[in-house]
Amino acid sequence: MRFWRLRRQGSPCPVGPRTAGQRVCIGLALLVMLGGAVALILSCYPGRPSVPTVPPLPPAPPAVSMPAQVKVLLAQAEATVLCAGGGTWHAGAPEGNPVLTSGSGPWEVRAEGGEVLLNGERLGARAVLYPNRERFSLNGRVYRGQLAAVAGDGGLRLFNELSPELYLRSVVGSELYAGWPLDVHMAQAVAARAYLLYTQQSKGYLTLLDLAYRGVEAESRNPDLGVELTQGVIITYNGRPFPVYFHSTCGGHTAPVTKVFNDPPIAPLAGVRCDWCRQSTAYRWRVRLSATEIAQALSDRGIRRVRTLEPLGMEPEGRARTILVNGAVEVDANAFRLAVGPGRLKSTRFEVTAQGDEFLFEGTGYGHGVGLCQWGAWGLAREGYDWRAILAHYYPGTAIEQVD
Ligand SMILES: [Zn+2]
Repeated sequence: MRFWRLRRQGSPCPVGPRTAGQRVCIGLALLVMLGGAVALILSCYPGRPSVPTVPPLPPAPPAVSMPAQVKVLLAQAEATVLCAGGGTWHAGAPEGNPVLTSGSGPWEVRAEGGEVLLNGERLGARAVLYPNRERFSLNGRVYRGQLAAVAGDGGLRLFNELSPELYLRSVVGSELYAGWPLDVHMAQAVAARAYLLYTQQSKGYLTLLDLAYRGVEAESRNPDLGVELTQGVIITYNGRPFPVYFHSTCGGHTAPVTKVFNDPPIAPLAGVRCDWCRQSTAYRWRVRLSATEIAQALSDRGIRRVRTLEPLGMEPEGRARTILVNGAVEVDANAFRLAVGPGRLKSTRFEVTAQGDEFLFEGTGYGHGVGLCQWGAWGLAREGYDWRAILAHYYPGTAIEQVD
């Protein structure tokens, strides 16, 4: 009765006994509403990111080829080696070189009198560990490939030898956040591959300062896929490899290579504007350093006290070329940053003011600033630019090519 009364009073609420036609209409309306809700949810959900594709690329010049193995200098001091799956030590390749010793370790590796010593046992000038499961650990960190211990005039050197593509999986994973867009991982993989090609050719090996490398623990889906999708892809300039530098955050403009490194000028590394790295936590930073600690950092340059600091040569992109100390001594700005501590003085793009016994540095960006800006690449990818557009922006005038 209550419903009936409501209907008679002209309530807008259409309740009460319904005809078959009304029930059909309500059913259809509910279906339409349900469909709309599903469409709305689907439109909001980003879905699984599509995997970028790599079109056929022009071949790199015949003289440019990837090394079969890359050599990475992991340590230059006594170290502990473990090989959980077992392994064998040889003077060279297992074929033609008898087993020097075998097992799973742990081995204390050191050098004495030009020979490698393994738990005190002399193995000669060079001994290489070939793990049964292609993994070993050095000082607690797990790596793929082999470990070569080399004793020489400079003492012990421990090299990780492995395929470039396996190495790059860890490098890209060590350089970027795993959750970043795949196009950033692809651009980073190409840049790192080209950098390793150039460095291995010019120096014979890479160090942990050349490219970040944390071994197996840095591997994950996006870095792996970024390397796999771009397998053998590099960039060259005028048909030649070049040092394809990259860094975390440029702060608005990348640096000319000649300002930071003792390298010849090259058009792709002349510096470009970057409006995409503002989300980086290091886009703006401040740090206070005492005059005493700066003087200690510069002591090998004959500087005892620091009274004034003045960045010079800021043009054209805002980074200092040198720092004038006490109005008398010019210190290369990059060397100044490295001496003081690159984690504290995040870049050479700063202003500095003296405040009592301290100096306040207010700067932008993180890293040397040359080449690809990783946070900028992230920003570009978020705006829809693909890995090739990212590379073309930070390395203008270069060619993207395929190495055999
Ligand atoms: Zn940037």
